[in-house]
Amino acid sequence: MASTRECPSCALEFDDTGNVERCPYCDYEFPQRRSSIHWVAWLLVLLLLWPAIKGLMFLFG
Ligand SMILES: [Zn+2]
Repeated sequence: MASTRECPSCALEFDDTGNVERCPYCDYEFPQRRSSIHWVAWLLVLLLLWPAIKGLMFLFG
């Protein structure tokens, strides 16, 4: 499905094919969503849940 996306640099709309890395008009390079961000998110979740996990381990261990 093709949708339009607005370039944050030149504010022109273009067809977003899903893997556009650069603006076709001004050559602005879009920041890529890297998978490492997901790892950081999971790490934060784990750190937040860690006291609960330790508590469960204490209860059942
Ligand atoms: Zn642009």
